[in-house]
Amino acid sequence: MLKRRLFTPGPVPVPDRVRLAMAQPILNHRAPDFLPVFERCRKGLQQVFQTESPVAIFAASGTGAMDTAVSNLLSPGDHALVVRGGKFGERWAEICEAYGVRTTCIDVEWGRAVEPAEIARALEVSPDILAVYLTASETSTGARHPVKEIAEVVNHSGDRIIVVDAITAAGVYEMRMDAWGLDVVVSGSQKAFMLPPGLAFIGVSERAQRFMETSTCSHYYFDLKAELAVLPKDQTAFTPAIGLMLGLDEALKIILDEEGLEVTWERTERLAAATREAMRAIGLELLAPDAPSAATTAVVIPDGVDGPAFQKYLRERLGYTVADGQGHLKGKIFRIAHLGYFDRFDTIAAIAAIEMSLAANGYVAKLGEAARTATELLAD
Ligand SMILES: *Cc1c(COP(=O)(O)O)cnc(C)c1O
Repeated sequence: MLKRRLFTPGPVPVPDRVRLAMAQPILNHRAPDFLPVFERCRKGLQQVFQTESPVAIFAASGTGAMDTAVSNLLSPGDHALVVRGGKFGERWAEICEAYGVRTTCIDVEWGRAVEPAEIARALEVSPDILAVYLTASETSTGARHPVKEIAEVVNHSGDRIIVVDAITAAGVYEMRMDAWGLDVVVSGSQKAFMLPPGLAFIGVSERAQRFMETSTCSHYYFDLKAELAVLPKDQTAFTPAIGLMLGLDEALKIILDEEGLEVTWERTERLAAATREAMRAIGLELLAPDAPSAATTAVVIPDGVDGPAFQKYLRERLGYTVADGQGHLKGKIFRIAHLGYFDRFDTIAAIAAIEMSLAANGYVAKLGEAARTATELLAD
């Protein structure tokens, strides 16, 4: 018997209760019985984002919200600053380019976090920068950028907006849209929300709504103005992904009413910290040791171990799917997820499986040492 276990930082496992909620008969989205579901989702998302500003919901993967955050806020020829420290930072630059937005990129070595002072310098050099695009948790490298500190820099520098890809930060660790002065925050359903892919979320501050008024980029489906106009009435401009929203309603109950958002943050960080120590205990190196994100831990495949063979053994013999590296890191790292529906026993068992696959692929370490380390750190 082989049980399949998913440990990628999106998509993530979906709790049975959430899957059952999604199996309910489909309601009509204009019918009275769907409106309370929508209202709870809308308000619950504001809580996860820590904002009083509206959070719009699109039927799309997370990138739909990123696309919206460029096409609805800027105009062709406008100047944007992009922090590019991995695959998702690159995505911001690519979206800007697609809409004719001029970009200045701060290139950060993959696995490192950007220094807020670098942002300040770039804004001094180019006072015409209107928006700063940032990745909170760079899922491709496991690094966490200092969003709060960067927001302080941006907010003291003039009338600019700060736009944060919080796709693997919202519901993962402390991220406060209003208190930190973040103008736009985006996320997606297949990360900490414990849902299948298909919903994109975008929180929009008042200042960002002013930028919306003057933006001239072409768009049709991803129209924030149209969405924000009907959102208070618990409606979307087009048919919402009703089944996924029934699941979101249930998932938000788990996060907000049962576990509590801050406890969710603590649990996730504890699993991440134990995993980091467990990997170090058997001599493995982390890709982002100085600024690790709690969403996922990126581990360097040690010398002498064949990366693809390690992953294949893990998946086919042991049933565990972890994420490979992206871009130039393909086959060189693996990434294990902590965000969403994981508890300490999930994490300890995954670490044991990683040890088994390493051993099967020629890595010499005391089998069980990493799992023992994690067990000790995760015991009460
Ligand atoms: C998953 C993810 C995205 C969005 O990817 P989609 O495939 O469009 O959902 C964007 N940014 C980060 C940091 C992510 O982890």
